[in-house]
Amino acid sequence: MPFEFVIACALCGKQFTLVWLMDPVRVGPESTAEITCPICGKRFHLAPGNLLPVPNAPNNLAASRPVRTTELVYDCPSCGMRGLTVTLVHTDLSWEELSRETMELCVCSNSPCPKRGLQQNLHPTRTGFGALNPSLA
Ligand SMILES: [Zn+2]
Ligand SMILES: [Zn+2]
Repeated sequence: MPFEFVIACALCGKQFTLVWLMDPVRVGPESTAEITCPICGKRFHLAPGNLLPVPNAPNNLAASRPVRTTELVYDCPSCGMRGLTVTLVHTDLSWEELSRETMELCVCSNSPCPKRGLQQNLHPTRTGFGALNPSLA
């Protein structure tokens, strides 16, 4: 269910509208999302806990890309063991942007794995449930 908010950019202070394709089961009040300001193009983190949805947002404001909730899944590159780590993200980025920029410390516990028990700094391999925004390119 989408919620529309009017927010001000944390960096340039300009107002814009934000649509969050919210899944109430997975978006807790402590969740934060990474938002890209449609006016200055900078990114900042936003917590929706203290925002009020605006049912009829003024349409003279710029609109950001919708925020989506997705699982990022990290598989072991050494042995192919699936799902070493799964993280939940709220983001307006595409897979291309996210998978390049996101890293997570993972440890593989698969006994035949050559990297077993070692910390590996990995990019996500795939998404679990949910979909990300299409690439801008
Ligand atoms: Zn801005
Ligand atoms: Zn492994």
